[in-house]
Amino acid sequence: MDIRTNIPLRAHTTMKLGGPARFFVDIHQKDELPGLFERAAKQSLPVYILGGGSNLIVKDEGFQGIIAHMKIPGFEIVAEDAGSKTIHIGAGENWDDVVKRSVDLGLSGIEAMSGIPGSTGATPVQNVGAYGQEIADTLVSLEAFDTKTGGFVTLSRNDCNFSYRQSIFRGDASGRYVITSTTLRLSKNQPAPPFYASLQAYLDEHTISLYTVETIREAVLAIRAEKLPSVNDKPSAGSFFKNALVEEWLYNDLLKQHPDMPGFAMGNGTWKIPSGWLIEHAGLKGKLLHGIRVYDKNALVLVNESASTYQDLANARDEITRTVQTAFRIQLEQEPLELA
Ligand SMILES: Cc1cc2nc3c(=O)[nH]c(=O)nc-3n(C[C@H](O)[C@H](O)[C@H](O)COP(=O)(O)OP(=O)(O)OC[C@H]3O[C@@H](n4cnc5c(N)ncnc54)[C@H](O)[C@@H]3O)c2cc1C
Repeated sequence: MDIRTNIPLRAHTTMKLGGPARFFVDIHQKDELPGLFERAAKQSLPVYILGGGSNLIVKDEGFQGIIAHMKIPGFEIVAEDAGSKTIHIGAGENWDDVVKRSVDLGLSGIEAMSGIPGSTGATPVQNVGAYGQEIADTLVSLEAFDTKTGGFVTLSRNDCNFSYRQSIFRGDASGRYVITSTTLRLSKNQPAPPFYASLQAYLDEHTISLYTVETIREAVLAIRAEKLPSVNDKPSAGSFFKNALVEEWLYNDLLKQHPDMPGFAMGNGTWKIPSGWLIEHAGLKGKLLHGIRVYDKNALVLVNESASTYQDLANARDEITRTVQTAFRIQLEQEPLELA
């Protein structure tokens, strides 16, 4: 195991901010984990798992422990029946490569999640989703190293307690499990309507009526290219805020002042309001705050244009949440996790 020291973490996050890790190690096989955690415990060092760094914000002080960079490979069909194939995937595989390979195999279930940056092992953490699909729809189970017991476990979809951008991995069991692989069941059937509204609108506009995994992937990639900055030339963490969930009375109250405000009934007396709409209608779209740009094509995304510290980002975030709170009485919640 090659443990390196003083590695700048800004290079390992798509937001391109934050200080160094005291120790940094690539994990290529799951068997390396028990030894690493034993060693860390002996030296009283915390261990933090890093995938592609696309949903992670690092503070200026960096991390005084060990960053374990997930690199475990693998993509194997482990079961097949008349309607589906089940695939076992190493946590270190790049997620979009996995989507592409599945699409090339003609399998459906994750094609609408094309173009999401990061690793496969991170997808259950916030129940990654886009354009009407989320990982909870196809995940059968995952394998993880349980840092509490020092053993490996298999967790079923139910064990993960998935909900909108949430799971046990960023809830009750935050930091407990190192996901080493996921098992997905994908369908041999081609995708069928109803599709997510903006996806359907794109398909209609481009007169695409042959719905295949390839056409859906291409459509999603084209929509994303319009709405999301490429992490290669515009540092960001994707959507910086979760969509707002509000109680029905507040939604109805706000509608009186803002009749054009979009909202989606969640079925349990709460409504989801797109946070991008709130930020835009609070007058912040396109604004540059402390070196952070509220992306002019999508107000939910914050682009690091010239910020050099985490503090700049925190100041911009706080200014945005304060302004939205004043305008709409809604407290925005940050989506990317912070390395503490
Ligand atoms: C331009 C852009 C677009 C995006 N679009 C979307 C989108 O459409 N939908 C969406 O849901 N997300 C989106 N994201 C967010 C992000 O891509 C996902 O959350 C992704 O799953 C993060 O993967 P990662 O490997 O980069 O995780 P990291 O950022 O490295 O880690 C995120 C968290 O997961 C934990 N973690 C990572 N790997 C493991 C593991 N193997 N075991 C246990 N814990 C682990 C980390 O400790 C950390 O807490 C976008 C981000 C960007 C920059």
